[in-house]
Amino acid sequence: MTLPRFRCYIDGAFVDTDETFDSIDPSTGKPWAVMPAASAEDTDRAVQAAHHALSDPAWANLTATQRGKLLYRLGDLLAEHAPGIAELETRDTGKIIRETRAQIGYIADFYRYFAGLADKAEGAHLPIDKPDMEVYLRREPIGVVAAIVPWNSQLFLSAIKLGPALAAGCTVVLKASEDGPAPLLEFAKLVEQAGFPKGVVNIITGFGATCGKALTSHPLVARVAFTGGPSTARQIVRNTAENLAYTSLELGGKSPVVVFADADIDSTANAIVAGIFAASGQSCVAGSRLYVERPIHDRLVGLLAAKARAIRIGDPQDPATEMGPLATARQRAHIEALIGQSVAAGARVLTGGRAPADRKHGFYFEPTILACAHNEFPCVAEEFFGPVLSVIPFDGEEQAVALANDTRYGLASGVFTRDLARAHRMIRRIRAGIVWVNTYRAISPIAPLGGYGMSGLGREGGAESIRDYTRTKAVWIRTSDDPTADPFVMR
Ligand code: NAD
Repeated sequence: MTLPRFRCYIDGAFVDTDETFDSIDPSTGKPWAVMPAASAEDTDRAVQAAHHALSDPAWANLTATQRGKLLYRLGDLLAEHAPGIAELETRDTGKIIRETRAQIGYIADFYRYFAGLADKAEGAHLPIDKPDMEVYLRREPIGVVAAIVPWNSQLFLSAIKLGPALAAGCTVVLKASEDGPAPLLEFAKLVEQAGFPKGVVNIITGFGATCGKALTSHPLVARVAFTGGPSTARQIVRNTAENLAYTSLELGGKSPVVVFADADIDSTANAIVAGIFAASGQSCVAGSRLYVERPIHDRLVGLLAAKARAIRIGDPQDPATEMGPLATARQRAHIEALIGQSVAAGARVLTGGRAPADRKHGFYFEPTILACAHNEFPCVAEEFFGPVLSVIPFDGEEQAVALANDTRYGLASGVFTRDLARAHRMIRRIRAGIVWVNTYRAISPIAPLGGYGMSGLGREGGAESIRDYTRTKAVWIRTSDDPTADPFVMR
């Protein structure tokens, strides 16, 4: 049987690459499609196309309002094609269909939001301290953007890069992950249909060491927008030593969820399940460290274990499935190894901890809860990027803050309490880019995403994000012809 074949989208054309690789369906563990593997030369062609498009009048002469209209059309097309793209994402990454459908439908709104921002990236007139000068700031596109995304939520993570970049007038080379690239390569057809001039958006995939390195170190790249793991981020920072590209890094997390004894236990349990078992825990914001105030510790943990055991694991294309497989065999091996180390260190498996016995094929893993006496376990320190929750009891607010902040990460967090004053104290003291209070895993184009510490640099989403894709140009206009100014003294 011949497998469907995907292509890169470079300079307005769908192109084959010399090298290819098979993409694996995580629910079966078998190859299902052939993907292009962009070489350094293919990547260079994509960057050259983006560089050329930047000053091509077909793009450069569009008004900001016209760019916004193109983005809005892209949002509409994505909404229209959401079911087909969702099916592809589910096939290629194992993410369940009920989430991919809902998420991709909503991502259309992200493009519409950034469309609306296009003509609001205003410059400024400065009240300059010289009587014969007018000074204003122009806001100009920063240049060619290299956008790099990991395999989970590729459509979402690229929307918060492509949206502000295109709204600002930049051109983009978007590198899909080599794991699960199908939905982004398919999305390229919508970019074409929306009517973006050729070269403005190029979508490629390939391996980090070849394609990723060539892209992020390319001399014509002015801006790198990266989402992925911290060790790749370090390589990217080394790569950008070549081009000094302005770089944002959205990295991993080990996000704390703090539950006080006065919390509403049922809705809290529901939010904790959303935080760690949705998307099989393969979410950067996964609430993977749970701190429970001692009086309700046993009750809440019992409730969570019952909920975890009741989760329907199965075919990700079945709308009834609540947890599908992990995206790769590598990911499952990492999770198994980290659980092994944690158990050896004294953590107790309360539920899960292994692949389900009734799933012989595919990369499935049971929702897992580990009881930990304190923070000093590998499962509390390291990111699983999987459905594994570490639970630790605490006594009082001071200890909760100390435990929650005892991490090198700082992406998201959750606080559950009915005490409003305490909620506000916790919000101030937790070191994380997001604090969800009495909820978890909510996103919007309007709210920025980003971390502290090893969770990254910069913020994505929200009205300010367009500024990160522009530079200002200060324009000085002299309003007098007085020839007596001393040319040897700075004015
Ligand atoms: P990864 O870092 O292995 O890969 C991410 C991307 O980087 C891929 O496209 C990969 O090909 C590319 N890459 C690899 N080496 C490269 C190099 N040398 N130069 C340039 N590009 C290179 O991450 P992953 O395993 O695919 O994804 C999981 C990680 O992503 C987790 O740590 C997760 O927390 C993080 N993540 C963060 C966010 C966020 O918004 N903060 C969102 C989702 C995922």
